[in-house]
Amino acid sequence: MNKFKKIASFFIMLFLSISLFNSISTSASTVNRLAGLNRYETSAKISGNFTTSDVAIIATGKDYPDALSATPLAKKYNAPIILVKGDILNVEASNELKRLKVKKVFIVGGTSVVSNNVAEEIQKLGITIQRVSGNNRYETSYEIAKLVGTDKGAFVTTGMNFADALSVGPIAANLEMPIILVNSSNQGKGLNINNTYVVGGETAVPNNVVSNFKNVTRIYGANRYETNKNLVSTFASIINFSNAYIATGTDFPDALAGGALAAINNNPIILTAKSPNTNTIDIIKDNNISNLTILGGETVVPTSTVNSLLSASNTNTSLLKVHYIDVGQADSILIENNGKYALIDAGNNEDGNLVVNYLKSKGVSKLDYVIATHPHEDHIGGLDDVINSFSIGKIIMPKAVTTTKTYEDVLYAIKNKGLTVTTPITGDKYSLGGGNFTILAPNSTSYDSLNNYSVVVKLTYLNNSFLFTGDAETLSENEMINKGLDLKADVLKVGHHGSSTSTSQGFLDRVNPKYAVVSVGKDNSYGHPNKTVMDRLQSKNIKVYRTDESGTIIATSNGNDITFNVSPGSYNGNTDTSTNPGATTGDIRITNVDLVNEIVTLKNYTNTDINMTNWKLVSVEGNQVFDFPNGYIMEGNSEITIASGKSNGTLKWTSAYIWNNDGDRAELYDASNKLVSYK
Ligand SMILES: [Zn+2]
Repeated sequence: MNKFKKIASFFIMLFLSISLFNSISTSASTVNRLAGLNRYETSAKISGNFTTSDVAIIATGKDYPDALSATPLAKKYNAPIILVKGDILNVEASNELKRLKVKKVFIVGGTSVVSNNVAEEIQKLGITIQRVSGNNRYETSYEIAKLVGTDKGAFVTTGMNFADALSVGPIAANLEMPIILVNSSNQGKGLNINNTYVVGGETAVPNNVVSNFKNVTRIYGANRYETNKNLVSTFASIINFSNAYIATGTDFPDALAGGALAAINNNPIILTAKSPNTNTIDIIKDNNISNLTILGGETVVPTSTVNSLLSASNTNTSLLKVHYIDVGQADSILIENNGKYALIDAGNNEDGNLVVNYLKSKGVSKLDYVIATHPHEDHIGGLDDVINSFSIGKIIMPKAVTTTKTYEDVLYAIKNKGLTVTTPITGDKYSLGGGNFTILAPNSTSYDSLNNYSVVVKLTYLNNSFLFTGDAETLSENEMINKGLDLKADVLKVGHHGSSTSTSQGFLDRVNPKYAVVSVGKDNSYGHPNKTVMDRLQSKNIKVYRTDESGTIIATSNGNDITFNVSPGSYNGNTDTSTNPGATTGDIRITNVDLVNEIVTLKNYTNTDINMTNWKLVSVEGNQVFDFPNGYIMEGNSEITIASGKSNGTLKWTSAYIWNNDGDRAELYDASNKLVSYK
């Protein structure tokens, strides 16, 4: 999914002439100022990045609506946008059409904005013409949307003002969604869009207009600056913050040029007033932006404004960010603070480029630490690409060996770069920017399951902490508990993609997080995450963020509070059918076995009461049998616990310790001695 290349190759339009006349570089930040003279020459110059193109888009350079809404169309046809003056085909445009050997041109807008004369002159060059237009800018945007396609959804903004459409431009381009312009009398009816982002508040896009669209997410703020901020934070995970384009929020010509330039590199557009709004400052701070490209001259964005933005970027080094990169059914996590970076895992083999590009988009050139939790493909698959693409400080890997090609590739990349591997030792502490992380596992030298070799680390930043567990299973969780390690953390990366092998009740109680993140693929074949695990998180009121529902998740800590770039996800999980074969005599299942606290939970999934006389609960490892009391009735839809050791439950088995903490299977037999559930 190399969107960057796709965008860079297709996208190119542009409006104002760009003369780079001011470039300041400090150790922390770079500022470039772009100011323009002739937008037509520049548009031709930028289309010059194409060697040939069968298709080109022609739009007027005199106003913003057509050119802004044409951007996704240009992407669809991998075509440049060439600006014309409206009534004549300027020589720069004509020369470009010839040089590119264009066969077909989409003219965006009606004859009042791009005249028939221009169309005829283009036809004289032997080029086929398709005019995409309606009676006004709104209808033109609907016609463009039909050509672009709305399968992935659309952005809806007011056509009365450039600001919102401009902020959304690079984002819409990246998501391959059209920009639909509306006002109170042009409401976009009948477009049949199933997934809609409405940008702007009720005054900009009234509710009665919104009701014409389905599955609407409204992104808005009290003013254009806050709308800009909320838009950027909603799509933070797909935006490249290594540079930002700064435009005045009060007029469009300079900003139009920046819109397209920003889209090329997927950088954000940030609108500012002369005295920057607090929301503008927040965007700079929240996203650690230190490199700015200023659109327009001193009269539109004065140096005093730039200095205010820069001082915001300099005070921002105190934020710590954790990016749970969406790599499907796999793990890859980037941690950053104060210009220092650590990567935990790198996704599957095919995720290598995705991870490398993501890191580059966040400004990474050196990874101070790389932690390969364990040698399964969904954790180290993309690691060879990462090692080959960045300067690497320390690489931490467990002493676990497999014979896969994936593992060999990683070892080869390490050797080839002259790196040595650091073995994780519980208690070892490493500093990262203003924070540090401590190794908590593995705690044995050999395990049956590779998952239990997982390096578990706890990251501490001032008063906040994050726990990363790889695919560590209950056995490793119990080792950490039994060693008395400090497991408490604000955010838990849920072990093993939410599998029932991990996140035991005892472990979850020790970590006691406020937030949990599940890195998991949509509709994966493993049935992750498991319903029991999700139920456990829900019953402790832990907010859950999941990559299958929200894509990449970014947690930001200021040392005291943690915020997320997306809203919490669902507690939906799959019933693990392998541990619940169902019942013949009644649907009672073992839903949880807490080996440490010696509590087994059973649930009656039916509406009827079940007599459990002669039923048995068996500890397979301990070879112990619990006989249910004669005449014991388990009520319909109820849950009961059977406790041993020091614990109390609905039923007390014995004060002896029954369950083997290193793993023990619980089996439930009905009155006819038939196995009805095990876990
Ligand atoms: Zn895994």
